[in-house]
Amino acid sequence: MEKILNYINGELAEPTNGNYLDNYNPSNGEAYSLIPDSEKQDVDNAVAAAKEAFKTWSKTTKQERSNILMKLADTIENHFDELVAAESKDNGKPESLARAVDIPRAPANIRFFAGAILHDSSEIHEMDGIAINYTLRQPLGVAACISPWNLPLYLLTWKIAPALAAGNTVVAKPSEVTPYTAYMLSKICIEAGFPKGVLNIVHGLGSKIGDPLTTHPDVPIVSFTGGTITGKHIATVTAPMFKKLSLELGGKNPNIIFADADFDKAVSIAARAAFTNQGQICLCGSRLFVQDEIYEKFRDSLIAKTKKLKVGDPKDPNSNLGAVVSKEHMEKILSKIEKAKELGGKILIGGKREMLEEELKNGYYIQPTIIEGLNYDCSTNQEEIFGPVVSIIPFKTEEEVVEMANSTKYGLSASVFTENLSKAHRVASNIDSGVVWINTWLLRDLRIPFGGMKHSGVGREGGFKSLQFFTEPKNICVKI
Ligand code: NDP
Repeated sequence: MEKILNYINGELAEPTNGNYLDNYNPSNGEAYSLIPDSEKQDVDNAVAAAKEAFKTWSKTTKQERSNILMKLADTIENHFDELVAAESKDNGKPESLARAVDIPRAPANIRFFAGAILHDSSEIHEMDGIAINYTLRQPLGVAACISPWNLPLYLLTWKIAPALAAGNTVVAKPSEVTPYTAYMLSKICIEAGFPKGVLNIVHGLGSKIGDPLTTHPDVPIVSFTGGTITGKHIATVTAPMFKKLSLELGGKNPNIIFADADFDKAVSIAARAAFTNQGQICLCGSRLFVQDEIYEKFRDSLIAKTKKLKVGDPKDPNSNLGAVVSKEHMEKILSKIEKAKELGGKILIGGKREMLEEELKNGYYIQPTIIEGLNYDCSTNQEEIFGPVVSIIPFKTEEEVVEMANSTKYGLSASVFTENLSKAHRVASNIDSGVVWINTWLLRDLRIPFGGMKHSGVGREGGFKSLQFFTEPKNICVKI
């Protein structure tokens, strides 16, 4: 079986202990490659390489860094089709989705920050002829960038691009569940002539190499995207070391449909928000609140739309949903559906594992599932499921739906559907979440501040917020 390798100091490297883990293809349940089961020593080697490379990388001009990142983006694009196939194979998502979203957004992220660094500016505070304060924004050193499995290459580049553009060097840890495109990225870096040690990628279990990376004394800054429990752990272990920390965590996002919404548009987008990427996007609208005047019609239209969705071979362009990412995750989702039933939830459609045939018969497929009849405050409606499962809940008034929407510990994103402009603004302003979409979902602008409130995260990334996070402001006061 093919061995995935670490990328340390510009070279592909076996894990120092020589141990590997199986890497699975979720579409058929078969192990198809081996991933390094790295240890602290590998992290230490990567951090040492990054620390050494920082001495020169941090002294390059913005233009030089921009040029190198642009070349990396071009080289990624030269491997577009291979990356699409690899992301789908490793994650289970339809190739059509990887082609439309994941892979194009990787070079787009890199180009965005390669450009942004050239247009960034810092502040000056003048003191009425007495002095001038100016603020330098300087890179911190070695940044740890830890990313999840749901949008593997896309979210990895979302972190490494601003970190590198700002002049830091990076040790990245992709999810052990989906390491393959990060491995391809390391080979692409070598092909693009990326300078040694500037980007390092260490593969392995978060439980084993997470702490050695986040608590490493030579790593002053940690950017993490993943689950809330892991985020809490990282915050706990890094707090005594006063590291700069950005946490992009889970969500349980409300999708609110008022009776005066554009009905067909709202139904279409609600289905997309619930089931895209098998419901494995932190921004998925997994709680669907529908105003009671249109509740039954909306529910029936959503069921009809969901019936048309095809769960199938990720390679088939007609598949709307592929496999969920792993056997463990499939079992977790199915157990949450059983729990919903125990709580009195009625499964309107789906609710089961989808068994495909022949070589896909052992794949991890789940039917898109709609649940009705649960209280807004039960565990199904409070805890993240992170699968193709949406719970539909009627509401009467604006006040009531805002209270229900804000009832979870999360606060990542929300969508509001109404043709009443004042109501749209009012509700958006009253919802506790970092991002609110009105009459749409997942419309991303790379310049916006992105992140969550409450247990959905700490800090904001995106646009110049990312460059601010990956730099340290230093004020210099000059007496006139
Ligand atoms: P996890 O929290 O399980 O893992 C995220 C990453 O952290 C993985 O690379 C994981 O490695 C690593 N990790 C695990 N333990 C540690 C540790 N102790 N120290 C450092 N790193 C560690 O999340 P998932 O991969 O399961 O991703 C799904 C979650 O991510 C969902 O909750 C989702 O909502 C959230 N998410 C949030 C987004 C946002 O922008 N707010 C965007 C996308 C997803 P390994 O896989 O090897 O365990």
